[in-house]
Amino acid sequence: MEFHLQERSGSARTGRLVTPHGEIETPVFMPVGTVATVKGVPQDILEDLGVQILLGNTYHLYLRPGVETVRRFGGLHGFMAWPRAILTDSGGFQVFSLNELRKVSEEGVTFRSHLDGSSHFFSPESSVAAQIGLGADIMMAFDECTEYPADRARTRASMELTLRWAERSKKYFEEHKFEVPWGCQELVPSTQYPEKGMGADQGIAGASNRVLGTGYLTQSLFGIVQGGMDLELRKESAQRTVEIGFPGYAIGGLSVGESRECTREMIEATLEHLPAGKPRYVMGVGTPGEIAQYAALGVDMMDCVLPTRAARHGLLFTSEGKISIKQARYAQDAGPLDPKCGCRVCQRYSRAYLRHLYASNEVLAQVLNTLHNLSFYLDTMRRVRHSIRLGEVPYSF
Ligand SMILES: [Zn+2]
Repeated sequence: MEFHLQERSGSARTGRLVTPHGEIETPVFMPVGTVATVKGVPQDILEDLGVQILLGNTYHLYLRPGVETVRRFGGLHGFMAWPRAILTDSGGFQVFSLNELRKVSEEGVTFRSHLDGSSHFFSPESSVAAQIGLGADIMMAFDECTEYPADRARTRASMELTLRWAERSKKYFEEHKFEVPWGCQELVPSTQYPEKGMGADQGIAGASNRVLGTGYLTQSLFGIVQGGMDLELRKESAQRTVEIGFPGYAIGGLSVGESRECTREMIEATLEHLPAGKPRYVMGVGTPGEIAQYAALGVDMMDCVLPTRAARHGLLFTSEGKISIKQARYAQDAGPLDPKCGCRVCQRYSRAYLRHLYASNEVLAQVLNTLHNLSFYLDTMRRVRHSIRLGEVPYSF
C-alpha cells in the first residue's frame, strides 16, 4: 500500500491511497458492508456511485459464512464479487458492543455468538488470521474499545492492553502476510506495481506469494489509538502505537456516547501525534457535517453505518437537513427528495412515492433510501476534496 499526499488547505489534505485493489481518493467515506453486503445495494450500483472502498465486519463474517468459506473464494473480493478495495475491522468493537457476557483476559476475549449463543474466542493472532483469510486490502489490529464513561485507571489499563495487543497483531501479521488468499481474480493494474498481476497467477493458496520478494501485493495492517476521553492518554497511545510502527493509524473508541464536542477534541488532539505522511482513519463517525468537519481537521478515512441504517428507518440526509420520509406532510409532495442532489433517486422519484413505499413497508423503500443517503455522503466527500483543492476550508456545510 502507498499513500501520496496531494493538496493541503489548513490542516485538511487530499491524497491517494494505492491498494492492491485500486486507488482511493482521500479524504474518503467508506460505506459499511457488514456481512459482505451494503444492505439493499448491489455491487454494480456501488461502483456506479463511485465507491472506491468498502468496510466488512470480521466478527459477523467469522460467524457467518465463516472465514474458510470466504478464503476458498479468494477472500471477500472474490466471494462478494467486489473488485475494488476492502477494509476489515478486527472484530473487537462488535465483541464489545454486542456481547454483554464477554470475558477479557490478557490472551484475548471469550464471547458468545449473537446468532446461536455458541462460545468463541478472539485474540490478536486469531483476529489477524481471520482478516488474512477474508483478504481485505486493509486490516485492523485487535484492540479493546474502552467503555464510556471509564475512570483514568481503567482507561490506562485498557490502553496498555490495546498496545500489547497491537504488538501481537503486528507480529502475527508479519509472519503470515504471505497467506493472503487472492489469486483467482484479476488485480487492478497500477503503475506503482510493475509486477502487476503476479498475485493472480499463484493459485488459491497464495502462500507461494512468498517467492515474489519485494513488490508483491499484500495486505496492510493499521494500528488503533485508544485512550478514552483523556487527552494525555490519547497522546501516549498515539506515540506508543507509532513506535510499534504501522502503515496507517486509526483513532478508535469514539462515538461511544460522548458529546460531539468531545469527539472533535479527541480527534484533533490525537492527530497532532500521528505522522503526517500516513493515512489517518477515524472509526465509526458520523453525520455528513461531522465527516466534513473531521476531514477539515486532517482525517483521511471514515466509516459509519449511519447513512445506511438511517435510510432503512426512513431518515434521509439532504442539503436542507435531515428529513423523515414517513411523515404525512410528504404524502402529496411531488418534488424530489433533495432538489440539489443528482442521485438516481432524486432524479426520478417524488417524495410522495418514497413516502408511500416506506409506509407500505416495501423493500424498494430501503433500497432507494439507502442509495440516496450513500450518494449524499459520497457527494459530501467529493465537495470536501474539491474545497481542499481550491484551498478553501472544507467545513462550510
Ligand atoms: Zn439523492
